[in-house]
Parts: sequence; structure tokens; C-alpha cells
Amino acid sequence: MEISLKNQVALITGSSSGIGAGIAQSMAEAGATVVINYPSPGSEAKATDILKGITDKGGNGIISQCDVSKENEVLRMFQDVVSQLGTVDILVNNAGIQKDSKFTEMTLDQWNAVINVNLTGQFLCAREAIKEFLRRGIDPSRSVACGKIIHISSVHEIIPWAGHANYASSKGAIRMLMQTLAQEHGADKIRVNSICPGAIQTPINTNAWDSEKSLEALLQLIPYNRIGQPADIGNLAVFLASDMADYITGASIFIDGGMTTFESFSTGG
Ligand code: NAD
Repeated sequence: MEISLKNQVALITGSSSGIGAGIAQSMAEAGATVVINYPSPGSEAKATDILKGITDKGGNGIISQCDVSKENEVLRMFQDVVSQLGTVDILVNNAGIQKDSKFTEMTLDQWNAVINVNLTGQFLCAREAIKEFLRRGIDPSRSVACGKIIHISSVHEIIPWAGHANYASSKGAIRMLMQTLAQEHGADKIRVNSICPGAIQTPINTNAWDSEKSLEALLQLIPYNRIGQPADIGNLAVFLASDMADYITGASIFIDGGMTTFESFSTGG
């Protein structure tokens, strides 16, 4: 069986940069029509650039502004996408932020900002996607499944992270959201999974790789001894969204160069 997303529409949140852009590029190469979501008018130019890179290579797509933490904007985005492209087959819940702080100094604003985008945003988009999947029903010319959701979680779904309580809490919660949706909608032939990246070279973690010293410290945590790239995540996302992965649902798939083998134990712990 060929890995193909032909005839399918993939909406990737937060895809004007980083991992989301990498996933959009990979899915477009696999034949999907992609929706490049960006949060505010200020990032429209970046979204347009990503789409241009895709269309220059023969891919198809549109851009769509929406702050995923705002219910009215999410409803509008799904209405717009369905009216322009007919339906949505694949949702990649990727948009995410960090607002790091020592726990005792963390403000409620920092807590709420991260939970609102990383968790509530994934809830709102998943809800609208599943409603659209159920409205459309299974169409074998698109996929054997009724729809696919990929949550972008993190190794911090299972690795606690001092100084990042809001972020780690949001990613831990995504696991339960993902598994509950997989359970609740399995009989509807909707597949729901998470991708849990380790360290991927993107703007969210520039300070972890932009100097030789910080990169060296980071590589101490990665047995495979390289930082990941958005295309690494894009390749996995294409497979997970494709019919080749039709028996995979309710799974958290770690893609981290071995980070979750806890490298520091390689010398006895
Ligand atoms: P990034 O900063 O390049 O991407 C985050 C994207 O989310 C940006 O395009 C941003 O515009 C968008 N965004 C932010 N707030 C939004 C909102 N309210 N509505 C819509 N879009 C919004 O960083 P990235 O590394 O590509 O992060 C993508 C996802 O991957 C995040 O969920 C992040 O937690 C996760 N992740 C990243 C790493 C890593 O090492 N880079 C590791 C694990 C998990």
C-alpha cells in the first residue's frame, strides 16, 4: 500500500512555523490539500510564505487565521474551511506556546495562556473536527477511516519539567484527551493519536540550540546525538494520518532520538 493522503484535506494548527510547517509540507507532498493556520494578522506573511513553498512544489492549500484558544474563531475557521474545501479529513492539533517560570513565581496569566492554547485549543479544534467527520461519514475514495486527529504532545507528556509546570501539565492532559477521544469515537472509525516530540529545532526552543554550549548540553539528553528536525515529525504525521496506520488509535508515539530512554542512566544512573 502506498502512503498517500490524496483527496484529503488536512488542517494543521499553528503551521506558519516550526513543526506545524514541516507537517504541512510533508502532508502536501503526500497529496493532501493543506490548511495553514496562523494565530493573528501579524503572522499572515509567514503563513503565505509556507503556502508558497508548498504550491511552488506542486502542492495545494489555503491559509486560515484563527486563534485556537478562542471558540468563536475556531468555529469560524472550520466553517470557512468546509465551505472552501468541502470537508476536513485530518486535524493536526499542533499550535502550542511556552511561558516558563519558577513555580512560585508563575502568574495566573502565564498558567492560563499556556493551558488556553495548548489544551483548550486542542479541545475546541478536536470537537469541531469530529463533528465534521461525523457529518461527512466514511468516504472510501478518501480514506477507510471517517477522520484522523493527531495531537502534537511532547516528551513532557511523561517527563516532568521543573520551571515549566504549565507546559508539562498541558501536555500530560493531552494524553487523556487523546485517549478519551479514541475510546469515545473508535466505533465511528475516527482515529486519534498523539505525536510526542523530543527536542526539535524550531523557534519555540531557540535557546536550547543557538549556541555551541547549549546544543552540547542538549545532546547529552539525546542518545541518537542529534537535534530533531520538523521533517522528522512530518514523516511520522503522514504515516499516522494514512490508511497504512489504520489499526493505530489511542497511541502516544514518541519521536525523540531516544530521549525517553533517560540517557543519564546509560552510565548506571
Ligand atoms: P513554534 O513556536 O515554531 O510553533 C508554534 C506555532 O503555534 C506557531 O506557528 C505559532 O504561531 C502557533 N500558535 C501559537 N499560539 C497560537 C494560537 N493561539 N492559535 C493558533 N496558533 C498559535 O514551535 P514548535 O516547536 O513548532 O511547536 C509546535 C508544537 O510542537 C507545540 O505544540 C509544541 O509544544 C510542540 N513540541 C515542540 C517541541 C520542540 O522541541 N520544538 C518538542 C515537543 C513538543
